[in-house]
Amino acid sequence: MLTKEEILAIDRQHIWHPYTQMKDYENLDPIVITKGEGVRLFDADGNMYYDTISSWWCNVHGHGHPALKQAICNQLDQLDHVLFAGITHPPAAEVIKRLSTFLHPSLGKYFFSDSGATATEIALKMAFQYWQNCQQPAKQKFIFLENSYHGDTVGSMSVGGVELYHRLYAPLRFNSYQAASPTCSHCRHRQTEFTYDANHHDCDLECFQSMEKLLRIHHQELAAVIVEPLMQGAGGISLYHRKYLKQLRALTEELNVLLIFDEVATGFGRTGTMFAYEQADVIPDFICLAKGLTGGVLPLSLTVTTDEIYQAFYSDDAASKTFFHGHTHTANALACAVSAANLKLFQEKQLPHSQLAVLQHFHQRLRDLRAFDFVGDIRYLGFIGAIDIVQSHRRQKSFPANDRIGFKIYLESLKHNLFLRPLDQTIYWFLPLAVSIDEIDQIMDKSIAAIERAIRS
Ligand SMILES: *Cc1c(COP(=O)(O)O)cnc(C)c1O
Repeated sequence: MLTKEEILAIDRQHIWHPYTQMKDYENLDPIVITKGEGVRLFDADGNMYYDTISSWWCNVHGHGHPALKQAICNQLDQLDHVLFAGITHPPAAEVIKRLSTFLHPSLGKYFFSDSGATATEIALKMAFQYWQNCQQPAKQKFIFLENSYHGDTVGSMSVGGVELYHRLYAPLRFNSYQAASPTCSHCRHRQTEFTYDANHHDCDLECFQSMEKLLRIHHQELAAVIVEPLMQGAGGISLYHRKYLKQLRALTEELNVLLIFDEVATGFGRTGTMFAYEQADVIPDFICLAKGLTGGVLPLSLTVTTDEIYQAFYSDDAASKTFFHGHTHTANALACAVSAANLKLFQEKQLPHSQLAVLQHFHQRLRDLRAFDFVGDIRYLGFIGAIDIVQSHRRQKSFPANDRIGFKIYLESLKHNLFLRPLDQTIYWFLPLAVSIDEIDQIMDKSIAAIERAIRS
């Protein structure tokens, strides 16, 4: 076993971390996490941290859940990995058998891959090829939303709308149309001046105009529209109203444009329903799943689509109609086994609905943050809550961009047994479904203390 010092020495010399300015770590060590248990993580010195963002939005049942561990061990005794062309296996079938009970029956065709970015990229490629296969070759373009995030591969980046992540790579991205973000926190129709509860909000949906205009002008050259339903995650945990999705589905149907819902972050109970699309009561042509698909334990993803899309590829013309796409670890057997066990837990525990009391408590704790002058905006949906940090809400004064208040809060949070990873000046909680009321109280109390300390320092 390497000692903590040896680990840090190797890390410092060789390892390049994701979404990290490595110079920030010139005089700062990454945390050496050696154990996870429930919603808690432990470092090499035995310090505890609440996993307040579910290890980048994927953990569902807490770390080290016995049923998930057992599923991997059992599968390992049988089969670790095998290619998935011309071959199928029990855990893959088990995933689909269980998952299909949660999804609308028209979403009946499943394509496995291994990350969220590949799941969205596959949906884009399938949508593109669908129209080629249907002899409508002009339909090649996509609409995405400003502030959207669909992954970091070049294809998924091409439909990404977060300036900070995507601007630099503009020359690499294929041409798409960007519609204005429907973000409700900037909307003058906002019912309550301060908190945004996605379920209690109404307006006349002026934010749909940009999307409608693009659709009406360009529909003949459009393959699909891609959105993150109800919440733009990486774009600042921005929530928007389900009515937007209803109108989007109606208009895409009318104009013969496919609709892709990227539920990589919103899937698996995180928004309070199993999938976000249920709240909008519409059925997209594609739904992309990853993160929580395995309870967050192993990488696995799915692009789910309809029989209509599938049939356009089903042909004797193998050379031109086949979907030529795959990844080495497509439907990895261990990942499928833990995914099936994850879905079994959803069924047995009737998640997420059985956690309603926990959710209500979480939302109350978020509304209570109104009392603090550093809170510029509060929004929540299911197990996700976010606040914008400002210098003074009363005086309507925000922090200058170069103040790096988010990073300061992150550093302070570590001293308060938390990982609060900011998105710019937004602090958010993306809680595992297994969180308890008591843990929510601990997390919120410590969060307030950490934020106050960081602001005063
Ligand atoms: C995280 C995320 C992705 C990318 O998933 P990876 O597994 O990190 O590639 C795609 N879409 C959304 C909405 C996400 O939140």
